[in-house]
Amino acid sequence: MDKINNYINLSRKYRPLIIDDLIGQDHLVQTLQNGFLLNRIAHAFMLTGVRGVGKTTTARIIAKALNCIGIDGVSPMTLTPCGKCEHCVAIMNDNHMDVVEMDAASKTGVDDVREIIENGKYKPISARYKVFIIDEVHMLSKNAFNALLKTLEEPPEHLKFIFATTEIRKVPITVLSRCQRFDLKRLSILDLSNHLKNICQKEEITFDEESIFILAKSAQGSVRDSLSLLDQAIISCDKNLEKNKITEMLGQGNQEEIYQLFLNLVTNNGQLVFDIFNNQYNKGLELEILLEDLMNICHKAMSLYFIQDTNILDITDSEKQKLLEIQQHSGSSILLSIWQILLKGSKELKDNHNSYAVFSMLLSKILLVTELGDVANLLHRASNLVESNQHLNNANALQEKISPIQENKTIKVVDVKESETIDDIPPWEPQTNLAPQESVVTVDVVNDTLQDTIKKDVLNVFPQAKFIGEDD
Ligand SMILES: [Zn+2]
Repeated sequence: MDKINNYINLSRKYRPLIIDDLIGQDHLVQTLQNGFLLNRIAHAFMLTGVRGVGKTTTARIIAKALNCIGIDGVSPMTLTPCGKCEHCVAIMNDNHMDVVEMDAASKTGVDDVREIIENGKYKPISARYKVFIIDEVHMLSKNAFNALLKTLEEPPEHLKFIFATTEIRKVPITVLSRCQRFDLKRLSILDLSNHLKNICQKEEITFDEESIFILAKSAQGSVRDSLSLLDQAIISCDKNLEKNKITEMLGQGNQEEIYQLFLNLVTNNGQLVFDIFNNQYNKGLELEILLEDLMNICHKAMSLYFIQDTNILDITDSEKQKLLEIQQHSGSSILLSIWQILLKGSKELKDNHNSYAVFSMLLSKILLVTELGDVANLLHRASNLVESNQHLNNANALQEKISPIQENKTIKVVDVKESETIDDIPPWEPQTNLAPQESVVTVDVVNDTLQDTIKKDVLNVFPQAKFIGEDD
């Protein structure tokens, strides 16, 4: 039990307490530091970003920063709040009289806002500032925003607002323009990986790069999610992170196998494609997740044409090698076609109960595309096919003509498609179905008359043929 208690609260245990603890938000940290240093602190902040990037955490740090009085009880405002003074403690415990947190998702009406504004007129009871933290502020009604606007236009000295939102576009510009805005970035896999490794070291958890990478990737930019996943992983793996257990825990198929599946799709190995697919399906892998993984591989393989940096692509070096192999066997137009099929498939998968059948058909469609090859390749193959058939017919006709003829002079029939002079001309080589010794047609002629006849015949069959040893 003790073990579990130590582990489950990682996101709480490692919640940033001071502004420097915020990872991956350098711009925000720098701007806030400048503001505090110059004592130019906005009276309203707007924190925006996807869920789990640390908006509420940042809001609480700012609230503490504004009100911390230090252990000595007289220290000025600081972005490294002490965490020990009465204000810091009360804010952390969410029971400070002057720091009010409100969730606009549940209190959207004008009356809720009026109540706050009314309350805001009065000076703080004990703190330096009265701080209103309004989460999901975009949920406020139009009237509520209007009511808020009046206070934002002429805020009392003692009042600070910290707004947080996942949907900044729904916040009226009139409100936005009165706030200092911070866009909290979704964290890169690299940032999250480093963070997780750091914590593993502190918690004495052994790990390998790939396990950490999988966790960081699954967190999709959210610090909070990455830590809850790490919590779960530690419980599943018992202090020793193992890639296989983690992928199992996440309901992900073995990534290596999914790469193999994609590779076999582009190399058009249908048998192996369905072997891997059935294997994953029997293991209980969610087909939506499998589809997402395939889309991810497709997207990364395509991006790799334009972006070489593995950090930007959020891939490991070994993944890069696999993606290059996929590129080598597919080409951009094939990848685009696969993408379209997968994209359409994700909708079909949602709309249909028989997900196994939908997925099988999806794989078949892709195999059909990779069998045909990309458009350029297809055209090339088609023209080769026509050409080699032509050669075959010509060669047969020629063979009939020349078989009774004997001795004396040699005519080499050659293909002259792209050659300038007779010396450049390569011997004609049929593309398919003919033995190598037949690739050069040699004609022996008895006399000049016959030679002329044969030349005529040869020219009939090969209008651009030249005759070796003859002056032009
Ligand atoms: Zn303090």
